[in-house]
Amino acid sequence: WTFAYDSPIAITALLKEEELSMSKKFGQNFLISRAVREKIVALLDVQQAQTVWEVGPGIGAITSLLLEKGTKVTAFEIDHGFCRILSEQAFADELSFRLIAGDALKTLPLTLGQEGAPDRLCGNLPYNVGSVVIAKVLESDYRPPVMVFTLQKEVVDRLCASPDSKDWSSFSMLAQMDYEVKPAFSISSGSFYPPPKVTSSTVVFTLRPQSLVPSQLRHLFLLVIRDLFAQRRKTAKNNLLSGKIAAQVGKEGVEELLRRSGVDASKRAEALVWSDFIALSESLSSYQA
Ligand code: SAM
Repeated sequence: WTFAYDSPIAITALLKEEELSMSKKFGQNFLISRAVREKIVALLDVQQAQTVWEVGPGIGAITSLLLEKGTKVTAFEIDHGFCRILSEQAFADELSFRLIAGDALKTLPLTLGQEGAPDRLCGNLPYNVGSVVIAKVLESDYRPPVMVFTLQKEVVDRLCASPDSKDWSSFSMLAQMDYEVKPAFSISSGSFYPPPKVTSSTVVFTLRPQSLVPSQLRHLFLLVIRDLFAQRRKTAKNNLLSGKIAAQVGKEGVEELLRRSGVDASKRAEALVWSDFIALSESLSSYQA
């Protein structure tokens, strides 16, 4: 099966023949620039025989390049029509290709739990699905060494934000606790068919040799960042008092946690530093013990 992935005419003809149409709901915009697809694959830095999981393969524009590199690809696709094209036409004879049909928000965490992390994870996803998929992987116990995602630029800005910027949030901390997260390049809407209204950008996650958060505190740290950033305008203390932690330890418990940790919670969460969040997680772990 050779297919002109760069040609809107070929794409339209295939979809017509298969009686399919592109769905806005699933954020379907195909990457028609081979140069951009090759750049994405280069960022993944794959070696032959490595396992690559691709979320939202569409009809296989990036998948085909990954298979050319000799990798074993597992693709997670929600659109039944595209699934049919992938398994019956595009990669019907390809032993290194596996398709997991369905909503990746469900199938990806399940597969991670069953098989552990792949060598590489990538996806060119609508932003609402993309940020949830990324959060689910980051919150899991499994970490692929390299991940490359193409997302709406605003989501990439939040993932890569530095502590002093307006985009800094619990999502940035979640992303950066285990990974170095770097924007790679932006992609003009003309590189997609049909062209999306938003600007897209590609982001690379490289696993840190050592997490910024001690592994025994990981789960509590996730609770702490979520509570402290819940409402940006509130102080860290007020956020803590109305969050999940307070629901477990009570108001007095929160006061006690703050005293023990030595963190000045009269500031907003964005003014606190990594060690403050870790100190709070440590106090919480000894409080529960
Ligand atoms: N990778 C292809 C490309 O670059 O040309 C297609 C990218 S397109 C922006 C997004 C793809 O994600 C579509 O194929 C869409 O059907 C799929 N998708 C959207 N939501 C999904 C979900 N929840 N689970 C799995 N796939 C999803």
